[in-house]
Amino acid sequence: MGAPVFAAAISIALLAASASGDFLVGLGSYDVTGPAADVNMMGYADPSQNAAGIHLRLRARSFIVAESGADGRRVAFVNVDSCMGSQAITIKVLSKLKDRYGDTYSEKNVIISGIHTHSGPGGYLQYVLYIVTSIGFVKQSFNALVDGIFSSIVQAHENLRPGSILLNEGELLDANINRSPSAYLNNPVEERKRYKYNVDKNMVLLKFLDSKRAPIGSFSWFPVHCTSMNRTNELISGDNKGAAAHFMEAWFDKQLEQEDPTIEMLGKPGWTMNASVTIRNRRRLVGDSSSPFIAAFSQSNEGDVSPNTLGAFCADSTVACEFNHSTCDGRNEQCIGRGPGYPDHFASTKIIAQKQLQKAIELFRSAKEQVVGRVNYKQTFVDFTRLKVTLTAANGTTSTVTTCPAAVGFSFAAGTTDGPGAFDFTQGDTKGNAFWRIVRAALKTPNKAQVDCQYPKPILIDTGEMTFPYDWAPSVLPIQISQIGQLIILSVPAEFSTMAGRRLRDAVKETLVAKGRGQFGPKTRVVIAGLSNDYSQYVTTFEEYQIQRYEGASTLFGPHTLSGYLQEFRKLAIALAENSNVDSGPSPPDLLGKQLELLPPVVMDTTPVGVDFGDAKNNVKRGASYRPGDVVEVVFWTGCPRNDLLTEKSFSSVEIEQSDGSWRSLYDDNDWSVRFLWRRPSSLSSRSYATIRWEIPQEVKAGTYRISHFGASKSLFGSVRPFSGSSNSFQVKL
Ligand code: ZN
Repeated sequence: MGAPVFAAAISIALLAASASGDFLVGLGSYDVTGPAADVNMMGYADPSQNAAGIHLRLRARSFIVAESGADGRRVAFVNVDSCMGSQAITIKVLSKLKDRYGDTYSEKNVIISGIHTHSGPGGYLQYVLYIVTSIGFVKQSFNALVDGIFSSIVQAHENLRPGSILLNEGELLDANINRSPSAYLNNPVEERKRYKYNVDKNMVLLKFLDSKRAPIGSFSWFPVHCTSMNRTNELISGDNKGAAAHFMEAWFDKQLEQEDPTIEMLGKPGWTMNASVTIRNRRRLVGDSSSPFIAAFSQSNEGDVSPNTLGAFCADSTVACEFNHSTCDGRNEQCIGRGPGYPDHFASTKIIAQKQLQKAIELFRSAKEQVVGRVNYKQTFVDFTRLKVTLTAANGTTSTVTTCPAAVGFSFAAGTTDGPGAFDFTQGDTKGNAFWRIVRAALKTPNKAQVDCQYPKPILIDTGEMTFPYDWAPSVLPIQISQIGQLIILSVPAEFSTMAGRRLRDAVKETLVAKGRGQFGPKTRVVIAGLSNDYSQYVTTFEEYQIQRYEGASTLFGPHTLSGYLQEFRKLAIALAENSNVDSGPSPPDLLGKQLELLPPVVMDTTPVGVDFGDAKNNVKRGASYRPGDVVEVVFWTGCPRNDLLTEKSFSSVEIEQSDGSWRSLYDDNDWSVRFLWRRPSSLSSRSYATIRWEIPQEVKAGTYRISHFGASKSLFGSVRPFSGSSNSFQVKL
């Protein structure tokens, strides 16, 4: 008789966690843009794709959800406009959090998930393979990410207050396609029949409300590569997800403005143009919260998912690439995926961003389902190099297989239709950069055991067995499961293919339902947070692996990599269902002290005699008249943007003249309509130019405008000085 009473007591206790849907909720956001010059962009591994300006600033956006009550558990989720998570960054962020908040945050309950933009500065990962094209480690990139992620969590922590959360989900069509359909087709037909599409179309959204039920933010998950901007792009950008976030925040602000124009904060005390204050600092007060509305678009199982929805074609022709190998005349370089705005990749980025935005707004507006239940999490580290995995066949018989030390196959060098291979592994000594020349000595011939283990992958680089000058690839990786009421977040340090992600979600949900004694059921939603906490390239299914497309070639730990994840995640799911303890597993290495940084520093900036930094080189004609849709361009004499990243500020500013003669900034580095392009006349020149390009938006206000530029210059003796300059004024007429 005692047992049912005991069980009832447990369920009452569980319900008490937040049957009412009351949590503590906090959101934060901080600039992580980093160096906008000279630094190689992370993603396409193209040594010639270096940052040279900004289209959209990058941000880390965080939420913290805690159970109310003094000892309530909490989860902190960071969506960061970077290509991926990085163990080095995670270690550093967690140590800063520990210094500030003690044991409140750790690898157990913090998730740092990259959106996978291929247009952000690189050099922040600790394993060799991921920093070859950036000529080693880039401290400025690393620090910008660490400081921004940390600051966004601190903001969320300081903003923590009673609130509630709504959950919604819906299908978004026409925003993603499978870029390796020939591999997907190798999955069992009965399995494929369960799904209407060969990529996931579901967007899951959380809507955060304060205690007065005023919205304070939204986070959504949807799988699509942030490769709308192609590898010719040199402007920092969050690609389709980063753009969608800026758009949604602007959309929300506009709603507020229309509802209550009296809460306009512009021109408040402290607002001065010289301080180069960005739109962020002009946000209005919302509900009982002093923080701005925050919208984030997070990555999921996007491994084989492309935003280039028109498909892949040969060069500029209308000829589709060969289906199985994505080649044209037997070569991969000419086979390139096309976005919906082809041939303009800015247009493609905007279209894919707007599709995600519209779906998110629809889900945000119609969200009704209250998030209720407990907050909990389980996390461990797994050594994937020789993990024993027990497989159970359909007839119930079991067998044991193992994963392998990391290795990439030949198709890794071929790249994908989103960015055909530029990883220059086969060229002679005259090619490749200084860092590559140092590390190529480490190239190693794999032994028979490794060749057999990775079969049928033909090994190009045996990264898991290369340790000079330090580890080339990860072996110990974090996996993590977090619960916020009926939402389960699976943090994976990799890019899962569509079907691999489905199998993982199913395995976890089945386990939770089976072991959860009624805590989990049809309302339980499982989302994958891709590229979280560390990076280990791709994870495909065993069947996709056999095809050895780019994703299979980049599935590091051999054909049973996914089975390893399923086995280890099932253990975490059991621990979550039973709330039992999980062994921490082995520790990942901290390789920060071993990093080599070979990117040359800025030597000095100069201008011609009689010209100052910030002077216009090419000005607009004073009083000239423009209309919406016109492009205004001003070129300024400038210094290297690496001198001062202007974090939470802006290099560009489009300003309108007020009735009292003062100027007020309406557009800056955070706006789609503004581009900041930086260049030197030659690679060794100490002179440089900033072009501020403004495409006048349709919804512009008529008036007198000017364009301003902010920057910093470096003298030969190393002192860095800020400067600013403004163009002639001009008219905008409707
Ligand atoms: Zn990718």
